[in-house]
Amino acid sequence: MLDCDICDELNGELPSWLENESRLMVEDEHFALTPTLGCLTPGYVLIWSKSHVPSMASLRTRERAALLAFLARVVKTLEAEYGAVAVFEHGADGLSQAGNCVDHAHFHLFPCSNGLGQRLGALRENWSILDWSELGSLSGLPYLLHSLPGQPNPAVSLVEEGIKSQLVRRVLAEDLGIPDQWDWALFPFLNHLRETQRRWSL
Ligand SMILES: [Zn+2]
Ligand SMILES: [Zn+2]
Repeated sequence: MLDCDICDELNGELPSWLENESRLMVEDEHFALTPTLGCLTPGYVLIWSKSHVPSMASLRTRERAALLAFLARVVKTLEAEYGAVAVFEHGADGLSQAGNCVDHAHFHLFPCSNGLGQRLGALRENWSILDWSELGSLSGLPYLLHSLPGQPNPAVSLVEEGIKSQLVRRVLAEDLGIPDQWDWALFPFLNHLRETQRRWSL
């Protein structure tokens, strides 16, 4: 058996860190949506794949198609509530521990200003635009992906080992003016997590 807290949670185990309440907001056959632990700002959510894979690129073709539909639905609802939304992923290769937050595929989605979009872009120099339909070409490779508001396709960049952990949280915390509070283990922001759950309606 895999030892993965996320698989356990998606299989119905209630997280002890949330006083054994569920944080699940919506799910379908392949994906689930939750607010994130370390919910720096209301509206900061994660899309989890139900299969234990190291990146969304590693999903089977049929699941990747379902991902785009699920993502579009979530973005639409978030935008109605919070305004422009960005998507971020640190995809792992499944072999090394390369600094991704959790070794179970997930997208980060959060409200995104122009300034935050620029900070995300500044993380790498060698972004290239990838058509969403070609996401599978990154299977087995470690990568960063971000998709900014108003851009139809994501920017991706292959990464080496040694990427800082919780990279996107650090950027987000800086943008929010709380640069020391990026670490979910120290700053869970359960108040924002619960607010995000409350405001969700699909
Ligand atoms: Zn898992
Ligand atoms: Zn992550």
